[in-house]
Amino acid sequence: MQTPSPCDLLIRAGVLITQDENRSVLSDGGLAIIDGIIVASGPWAEVASAYSASRTLDLSCRLVLPGLVNTHTHAAMTAFRGLADDLPLMEWLTDHIWPVENRLSPEIVYAGTLLACAEMLATGTTCFGDMYLFEPEAARAVERLGMRAVLGEGVLSFPTRAYETPQQAFEHIEAFTHATRDSTLVRTAVAPHAVYTTSPEILQDSYALAKRLDLPWMIHAAESATETTQCLEHFGKRPVPYLADLGLLTPRSLLVHMVDIDENDIDLVAKAGAGVSHNPRSNMKLANGFCPAQKFMDAGVPVSLGTDGAGSNNSLNMFAEMNAMALLQKAHRMDPTVTKAADVLDAATLTGARALGWPELGSLAPGSPADLTALDLDHPGLAPLYEPISHSVYAATGAEVRMTMVAGEIVYEDGQFPSLPQDELNGLATTLRQWALARNQ
Ligand SMILES: [Zn+2]
Repeated sequence: MQTPSPCDLLIRAGVLITQDENRSVLSDGGLAIIDGIIVASGPWAEVASAYSASRTLDLSCRLVLPGLVNTHTHAAMTAFRGLADDLPLMEWLTDHIWPVENRLSPEIVYAGTLLACAEMLATGTTCFGDMYLFEPEAARAVERLGMRAVLGEGVLSFPTRAYETPQQAFEHIEAFTHATRDSTLVRTAVAPHAVYTTSPEILQDSYALAKRLDLPWMIHAAESATETTQCLEHFGKRPVPYLADLGLLTPRSLLVHMVDIDENDIDLVAKAGAGVSHNPRSNMKLANGFCPAQKFMDAGVPVSLGTDGAGSNNSLNMFAEMNAMALLQKAHRMDPTVTKAADVLDAATLTGARALGWPELGSLAPGSPADLTALDLDHPGLAPLYEPISHSVYAATGAEVRMTMVAGEIVYEDGQFPSLPQDELNGLATTLRQWALARNQ
């Protein structure tokens, strides 16, 4: 018998959803990990005979799946969770969000992003795409909690709290990109806010920057009928043809929301090879409608999943988002066979990873980083178990997450974050609440 090869860590999983090429799901599965990278994935008996480690993690009462990938959020907006609900979009923005955001500071972005990272890790998300201001502060929070993120400083045509001009934003993004080049956890993106907050020139300049630095380019697009009306008034085109005619629909482009859509829009996106970030709960809560996600997928468009910010969701829980994606498409199409659980899990793992330009994430196959989450198979809500992928989408709520790992390191376990004590977490919430409520400072 061959001598087992050494590795850093062995994991024994009661059930292992690998999201590998064959979408293998194993009972009594095993992973071998070296330097945070999976070197073997398969039946426990085979992995344990091929590898030996000084440390073995027994997850035999857990359902282990790849860490989920949230392709669109505004992490620091956890500060706005539940601040103002059940309001029309413009009233919500102008009376409740923008007046507070006018006082945004780097300290608040750091605090809000720490809270967001904690929530995401506790609900099984290991990587997210972000669009906000003061992203170097978000990077500090991400690195501290030990998760991964692709951070896109928002680009707008008008002055923000972080910079006066779009040109300053571009310089800032380039410097931030160079500063994070050696990080294994943080990457950057270029994130113009939307067609109604930027000029055609700024959009094209932002895309040129993304291309030059080889970064993802992400934008809110076709979020509402109002956006379409404004785009028609200003530019004589719907948002998607407008972006297409500017040369901005490419495989580098991630189009967030894509709610107010017609057949020609779907065709343009499919032909261009651009991706869609579907944010069903935010779209429903703001009553903007819904993205025809199944139609996009039928046309071959890669559809990933995002939560949007906690102000309009109100959680960053990707299990809730997966559930919403499946149910919304079925209800809309009046067809329970569309948008199957496996399609939804793909959106929340593999497709999300590719959308963020990080294709090695989203699976537990050899060569992938050991980014995973472990659900409690003893939880009554997951019993009995017939089909693990079905349970991940239709039965799990995120509350079953007992442990989350990034790059082979445990970053969340049983309510605790190794790098963020509970009293500090409580203090963050107090800080954010006081800031959001201090209207007249
Ligand atoms: Zn958004």
